[in-house]
Amino acid sequence: MDVIAQKSFPAALPLGPQVPVDEPFWMGLLEGELRIQHCKECDRWIWGPSWVCQDCHAFDPPWEAVEPVGTVYSWTTTHHAFPASREFAESVPYTTALVELPHAGGRRILGIVTNTRDVRIGQHVRGWIQPAGESTGGWPVLRWIAEED
Ligand SMILES: [Zn+2]
Repeated sequence: MDVIAQKSFPAALPLGPQVPVDEPFWMGLLEGELRIQHCKECDRWIWGPSWVCQDCHAFDPPWEAVEPVGTVYSWTTTHHAFPASREFAESVPYTTALVELPHAGGRRILGIVTNTRDVRIGQHVRGWIQPAGESTGGWPVLRWIAEED
């Protein structure tokens, strides 16, 4: 995944591995990849991170790099920074999309759309990785760019 110059946003901290099971996701972002779990026993894609496949109960489903493209399943625009997220005060309004990943069995993942506030359901988006910085707690963050159809 290319890291491209886009508007950077702060992040709701803390980021990075909070429990050992999600560490491969964060290591993937550090290495420039979006990684999602993919059970090899039953072919189910899994998001959020889990110790066990929800379908066949196989332990430790492996992680796989996924092309960071998808479509907007839903979205919301935030106009006011909440007291618990004052770090976003300079960034509002901004749009967060729930993106469906066709290369990961249709799993859906959240992220801020960095190039526009105007998105629509079904719109194609492409992921990019905002580099680790002070405003992201030292971790890279998955972001989205809405593409023209
Ligand atoms: Zn499975």
